[in-house]
Parts: sequence; C-alpha cells; structure tokens
Amino acid sequence: LMNLTKKLIEIRTMLLSIDQSDTLKLPSIVVIGSQSSGKSSVLEAIVGHEFLPKGNNMVTRRPIELTLIHTPATNGKAPQEYGEFPALGLGRISDFSQIQKTLTDLNLAVPATEAVSNDPIDLRIYSPSVPDLTLIDLPGYIQIASMDQPETLKEKIASLCERYIREPNIILAVCAADVDLANSPALRASRKVDPLGLRTIGVITKMDLVPPEEGATILAGNRYPLHLGYVGVVCKAPGAAAKKNKRDTMALITQRGENEYFSSHQDYFGSNSSVMVGTNTLRRRLMDVLESSMASSLHGITNAVQLELEEAQYQFKVQYNDRRITAESYVAETVDALKSRFKDFTTQFRKPQIRARLKEMLDEKVMDVLEQLYWQDKRVLELGAIANDARVKVEDVEPYWRYKLEAASSLLTKSGVGRDSTLLVADGLRTLIDSIAAGEPFTFHPRAAERLIEFSHMILRDRIGVASDQVENCIKPYKYEVEVDEREWEVGRAKAVDLFEKEVKMCEEKLKEIRKKVGGSRRLTSLVGYVRELEMKDRERKQRRLSSIEDGEPPEPEPSVDEYRYPPAQLLDARHANMYNDRIGILKLRLAALKSKRCKGGPQNDVLCPETFLNVVADKLAYTSAMFISIELLDQFFYQFPREIDSRLLYDLDRREIVEFARENPSVRRHLDLQERKDKLEEVMKQLNSLAMLRPDSKPTPRRQ
Ligand code: GDP
Repeated sequence: LMNLTKKLIEIRTMLLSIDQSDTLKLPSIVVIGSQSSGKSSVLEAIVGHEFLPKGNNMVTRRPIELTLIHTPATNGKAPQEYGEFPALGLGRISDFSQIQKTLTDLNLAVPATEAVSNDPIDLRIYSPSVPDLTLIDLPGYIQIASMDQPETLKEKIASLCERYIREPNIILAVCAADVDLANSPALRASRKVDPLGLRTIGVITKMDLVPPEEGATILAGNRYPLHLGYVGVVCKAPGAAAKKNKRDTMALITQRGENEYFSSHQDYFGSNSSVMVGTNTLRRRLMDVLESSMASSLHGITNAVQLELEEAQYQFKVQYNDRRITAESYVAETVDALKSRFKDFTTQFRKPQIRARLKEMLDEKVMDVLEQLYWQDKRVLELGAIANDARVKVEDVEPYWRYKLEAASSLLTKSGVGRDSTLLVADGLRTLIDSIAAGEPFTFHPRAAERLIEFSHMILRDRIGVASDQVENCIKPYKYEVEVDEREWEVGRAKAVDLFEKEVKMCEEKLKEIRKKVGGSRRLTSLVGYVRELEMKDRERKQRRLSSIEDGEPPEPEPSVDEYRYPPAQLLDARHANMYNDRIGILKLRLAALKSKRCKGGPQNDVLCPETFLNVVADKLAYTSAMFISIELLDQFFYQFPREIDSRLLYDLDRREIVEFARENPSVRRHLDLQERKDKLEEVMKQLNSLAMLRPDSKPTPRRQ
C-alpha cells in the first residue's frame, strides 16, 4: 500500500494546482498548536533537519504546505536530499539552512500590519529518510497579542487554522506535556470540528519536562480521549555532551536523546505499556493514518474528479468546439491578423489617394495665396473688367498683373511643399497605426501596443527627412517655370470653378448660421448696417484726430460705451457676416471671370485667370509629390513594417513571456484555463483509474449518465 500514498500525494499536488476549492481535495495532515508548544521541533524531527524559521517574533505567518517525498535508494546508493519551492523556480536546494532562510524571508515579507496571510508556501522535500507525507504547518495559536501586533491577530490565526482543519484533513494537535491539556488551544479547536477525535492525533511534546508517571497518564488519554490516540515525544537535543561523533547529525543526536529518555523509563513507556512514544512511532502512525485516510477518500475523490472532468469536457466542447489553442498559436494569429489588417489599410495609401489628399492641401494653399495677393487688392475689380473686355489684348495687359501671377506661383511652389506633403502622409500613417494599436486585440496588450507605435513611428522618423528633401528637389523646376497645355488648362479651370462654387456655398452656410444665431435676417441687416456705420464713424474719427493733431488742437474724447446699442457678441457676428458677404462678392466676381470666354480661351490668358493657373500648378505639385512620397516614404514603410513586426513585436519573447502575452487577452485566458483544467483532470483521472486497478477491492467507478 506504500505506493498508494505516494501516488495519492502526487495526485493531491496536481489537484491543488487545478483549484483551491474544497471539492477536489485529498487529505493532508494539518499541524496546529500554541506558540512554543514544540510544533517546529516535531516537524523538524519528522524531516530530520532543522529548516523552519526560528525567532521569537511570530516567524510563521503563512501556511507551509510541506510535501515529503521518499526517494528510495537506487543500486544501494542513497540519493541526495533536497528541497524545492515550485512557485519560486529556485531549483533544487540541498542546503537546509538555505531552505530555512528562504522560508524566513517569505514569512517576513508578509507586512506587519497583516501579520498573517492565507497564501500558502509550497515546499517539497525529497529524501531517502523521510516518509511520504503531506503536512501543513500553520502559525501557532497565541494567547495575548504583543504590543506591535494587531488586535485582531488572535482571531486571524484562529480562523486561518479553522479553514485548514476541516474535513478531510487530519489534525495533528501539538501540546506540551508541561501545560495542562485543558489549556491547549489545539485540542479545543480540534474538538470543535472533530468532537469524537476521529481524525485528530495528539502529540505530547516535552515529555522530559514532567515526571514519567504523569507523562504516561497524559498519553493514556483518558481525560480527553482521541480515537487516533496520543504520541509522546522528546524533541530536544540533550546538550553538546551528547555529541559522540563528529559526523553525528542534529537528527541523530535528538533521536538518541529521545531514545535515552524513553528507555530509561521502561516501566512507563516500554513495549509492554500500551502508550505510543517516540518520533519514529509518530512517523509511522502518521503514515498509517494518512494512508488509510487517503485510501478511504479514493472512491469519493475519483467520483468528484470524474464529475469535474465531465463538466470541463462538456464546457470545452460547448464553448470552444474542442478547439485546442496554445499561447504560441495565439501569438502567431495575432501577428498574422495585424499584418493583414495593415495590408487592408494600405489601400488607402495608393498613389491616387495620396494625390487627392495632397491636392486638397494645396487647394487650401492656393486659396490663401489668392486671398493674400488678389482679393485684398482693390484693383482686382479691374482684372475682372479686362477679362470681359474683348477689345483688350492679353499682350497689352499691364505688367503689374504678370508680376502678380509670378509672385503667386512662386508663393505656392516655395511654400515648403516637400515638408508639408511628406508630413501629411506620415501623419496619415501614424494615425492608421495608432488606430490599429488602439483596437482589439491590442486593447488587451498595452505593452505590445506601445511597442508597435514606438517602432512604426521610428521608421517614419527615419524616412521623413529624406523623403521631404527628395520631394522638394523634384518639384524644384516648377519654382522657375510651369508649362501648361490646353487640356491641363481646361481641367484646372473646371476645378477652380468647382472650388469657388464650394467656397461660395460654404460662406453662404456660415451666413445662414449667423442669421439664425442673431435672430433672423432683419436683425442681421440692422446689425450689419450698424457695424458699417460704426466702422465709417471710426474711420472719420481717426481722420479728424490726425488733422487735429496736425493743427495742434486737443483730441476728441473716445466714444462712450452707451454708443453700442447691441451686445458685443452680436457685433462680432455682424463683423463676420460682413466678411463673408465681402468674400462672396469677390468669389462671384471671379467665378464670372472664370466662366468668361477669355478664361476658356486657354493658357495664354493666364494673367487674367490666376485661379486656373494656380490650380494647374497645384495639380502638378500634387502629382510629383505623390510619386516621390510613394517611393521614398510609403514603399519603404510598407517593406519595413511587417519585418519589424516579426523581429520586434513578439518573436523575441521567451516561452514565459509568450504565455504572459496570450493570457493578457481575457478570452484567450479563459480558453487556456479551461483547456488546462480539462487536461489536468484527464491526467488525474488516468492516474486514479490506474490506482483503482491496483487496489484489491477495486470497483469500477460509476459514470454519470
Ligand atoms: P513552536 O513555537 O511550537 O514551534 O515551538 P518550538 O519547536 O520552537 O519549541 C519551543 C521551545 O521548546 C524551544 O526552546 C525548544 O527547544 C523547546 N522544546 C521543544 N521540544 C522539546 C522537548 O521535547 N523537550 C524540551 N525540554 N524542550 C523542547
């Protein structure tokens, strides 16, 4: 049956990793006792090493799940002893003082304000001299909290212990022989959950501190009977004098002290007496009790695991149609999806689209240039008149207009088209990447999203300078001369008409808005009239002021506020309305010119139709810029970006980071969790079934229908 416990301990460990709920639990031995009852000494005697934290300031603050694994000798050679903290990944630790130090650190890491934590420390010890056992060491019960401990500490420890001493666990109640059992908090707690003492073993420590007859009476257990009985131990080394040999281990010395004590009181503790004494007896007792407890749990746990497994299999089928995933497959899918998403978006960055965007930007520049050079020039009315006067030949138009056109063209071509157009496209790319990074699944992966943004912005930064220089260089000829043919002229003229009509509409919309805002067209008319009046008065006043200064007379006082009949916000609206009205006037005038015979006549009339000419120039600039931005910026970016995804985004992650990444996505995490749970339960079930076969009284477990 030896093998059974070992196997079940393995299964217990697996079940613990599946979940911490109470449904899937195999029994363990829980060690409780008050502080200084000798709890640590007993555990260390069982393990044969000093490894538990020592000190007078509450050194056990977290439960220690201690799994002892007996490692049999192979070929007559005793295997090495070592401990392992699976959660810490420190590997095998064969120095037990190192284990002690690690445990101390883990316990002291619990903040003093909390004092105890429910989070157990998992420690496994492999040794040829330990039995297969699982023990849980809990913080010792305290009587009164000391000054620096929280008030609630006593209750906290008690409730922590209460959780662990529930069924099916076995309770090891540690009591010191020199303290009245009536005062033992361990026995009191155990009686609450196990009144008949069916799963409680009493350990009486410090047997050497009471007279042997008294010790024997306690062990007989008549006062507080326990079904599993009491075992008496002496776990203290009898001083340095007992060290007979240099190679003696602490375990050996302690054991010798204990043997010496009990054998010197044969009458009370000898083989003829009915009491149980000695650490070896305790070990054997624990093994027997755990074994039979585990064996009797086997049937129940098998059924429970079967139920859980069926549920997990059912859920896996229903939710995921049995589709298995791995963290790696998720990473690969994410990368593929990202690349294809990006590829879809790149259709927005073909040359015609880029050209259109650039043209829009240049159209605005053209409008600015026109406003600056033409619309603000009072003589612009003359220009319209000439265009409509068939008698005036183009050659006879004043050179003034020729200079104007040249200035306008150069203002446009020298406005930094290279930089502006490159930045416009780069901004478009940046916005695209940012939107990809802000969408699923990157919402779950903030660090990956950050990296994605970071390296794509970096590629752009690296290219922007070169690309904008290239573009600037390629549009250079237009700074000196722009040749326009008939076809281009006609296209440009139509576009200019179109643009102007749109602009008129826009201004009319604005006017409508203002009219609505101030409360109707009559109101606006009177406001506008008033504003014009004010402006005129203002001009006259300035004029008078100038002449009075010349004449050396005192200046007229500023007008008082009550001269303003309307609220200032409405006056501002009226000023805007004026501006839009003026703009509409000019636009309409120029529209008439654009539609005139003269403008339709072809590129030789360029001085009379600057709008058409500038539109053609803008078109040429957009065409050339788009071409070179495509080569210098877009092609480079589209080439480099997928490569950077491969080399920088996810492929340099190690196994742990890949899992971490995948688990950032909650739906993937749920999928992986369920899959893992199902796999583990299947494995446990396999092991349980193989055990059931081994057992003599094996019965097939009933399956749920
Ligand atoms: P814990 O606080 O319950 O873990 O108690 P410890 O194991 O640290 O023991 C408390 C004190 O009792 C220590 O000074 C031990 O040396 C001492 N002690 C433990 N077992 C025995 C024993 O069997 N006999 C004697 N005389 N002292 C013991």
